[in-house]
Amino acid sequence: MTITDTPAAVSSGVHFPPGRLFIGGEWREAADGGRRDVISPATGKVISSVAWATTADVDAAVGAARESFDSGVWSRLSGRERSRVLLKAVEILRERREELAQLESHDAGKPITFARIVDVEHAILQFEYAASLGQHLDGSVREIPANAHAYIRKEPIGVVAAITPFNFPLILSSTKIAPALVAGNSVVHKPASDTPLSALFMAQVLKDAGVPDGVFNVITGSGASLGDHLVGHPQVDKVAFTGSTEVGAHAAALASRTLKPFTAELGGNAANILFADADLDKAIGTVIGAFVFNAGQFCMAGPRLLVERPIYDTVLGILSQAVPGVPFGDITDEATVVGPLASQNQLDKVTAMVESARRDGAQVVCGGEQVDMGGGFYYRPTVLAGLSSDAECVREEVFGPVLTVQPFDTEEEAISMANGTAYGLASGIQTSNIARIHRVAKRLDAGICWVNGWAVLDPSVPFGGVKASGWGREYGPEALASYQRTKSIVIDLGEEQA
Ligand code: NAP
Repeated sequence: MTITDTPAAVSSGVHFPPGRLFIGGEWREAADGGRRDVISPATGKVISSVAWATTADVDAAVGAARESFDSGVWSRLSGRERSRVLLKAVEILRERREELAQLESHDAGKPITFARIVDVEHAILQFEYAASLGQHLDGSVREIPANAHAYIRKEPIGVVAAITPFNFPLILSSTKIAPALVAGNSVVHKPASDTPLSALFMAQVLKDAGVPDGVFNVITGSGASLGDHLVGHPQVDKVAFTGSTEVGAHAAALASRTLKPFTAELGGNAANILFADADLDKAIGTVIGAFVFNAGQFCMAGPRLLVERPIYDTVLGILSQAVPGVPFGDITDEATVVGPLASQNQLDKVTAMVESARRDGAQVVCGGEQVDMGGGFYYRPTVLAGLSSDAECVREEVFGPVLTVQPFDTEEEAISMANGTAYGLASGIQTSNIARIHRVAKRLDAGICWVNGWAVLDPSVPFGGVKASGWGREYGPEALASYQRTKSIVIDLGEEQA
């Protein structure tokens, strides 16, 4: 089956039916037949429809996941067997990578080049890496003084609810699904309402790869209406949440009532510290990439640029020339770097944030306006100067292509400004001074620090936040561990023989 109500670029070969949930290995309508249109951020037009789940559908998906987990059809396979299935999924993804890139590009408004080389490639790497971890789901042996044999097993947790936001639908689904599955869990995945298509695509890929029915389920529907039901569900054993700090805190509080383990990947508002001794040509490219990539809708963006005062005016001058030249607009053009925001809601939020910056006295170095492209949700990459650290646009996450630039005089001041928001996801230092790199990096309140670059990610390197950016880590063996529980088995060996 193919999506029939989509533009040619998307409908070319997407093998899942519109308006269906994926539950128990089957495509089915929502319990009340409800549907919702999927809008292309690039055009503002309808490109497909998805089922709009009810709480009865959540119950059905959780029930299917529970049954599959308890049956042992997946949970009791060896890690190596599960790993082979994930590698089959990798093979299918590689064969269908262009379809998936087109789908993600249209659904989330991503320039096609980035959908190909970032979203799809990174999702594939996540599955490949998780499969490699599945080859050795090792426990350990502990030497203890009693005459006993003590060993530690790593076991799957059970039914995982995986909830993801709109900005990197495919990658953020994969960072949860791949380690959760290889550890032996069953999953109920709820993608963001604005960008649900790649999760449904993945459902078919995983089925085709041999993931047994009921082990992976996708429900599309309103987080506001279904979220509490899913998170609080007595048959859900773990919640993996990526999204805003506000919703994450609410969901974490609810999960804690039933003592569910909870991974929280939340908002960010990273500072990028540019010292006068940096390689300026390279650093400017890094600075621009760190705030325009994905139209600024990425949790680890670098929207706060802190510049050492001697080069402050020079940097503003360069940015005012360079930023308007970043290729902008048509997501189907391979040269485009910045596309639309993901929804009207995002466009309204970013517009309101820049207006608030203007009221706070910002100097608009470039941008600062919506762009009419005959439909879609476009905001011009924007650089703002002259704001103090307590301006809303500096303090809060904007989640759009907006950079604030502030000067600093000393290293100490830069560290204090960088750490001066509620968030603590990413951070960056641009400098040629090796001693300073180590000195500053260890004092930044963030889960990751990029030096002389930005957003270099690898499935093996742990990623996650501190403070209001959340807790727990994705990527690396740390991600696998967050989908496992630890069991100690201690065997009394009786009286010791002489
Ligand atoms: P959001 O509004 O918090 O939504 C995230 C997910 O939660 C969506 O699937 C949403 O469903 C669902 N949801 C809504 N209400 C819920 C509830 N009561 N219980 C459970 N789930 C509920 O976030 P967003 O606007 O989509 O995404 C942007 C945010 O995500 C930014 O703050 C960004 O920094 C953060 N983010 C963090 C990371 C990270 O790794 N730290 C990565 C990417 C994004 P609906 O879509 O139906 O509302």
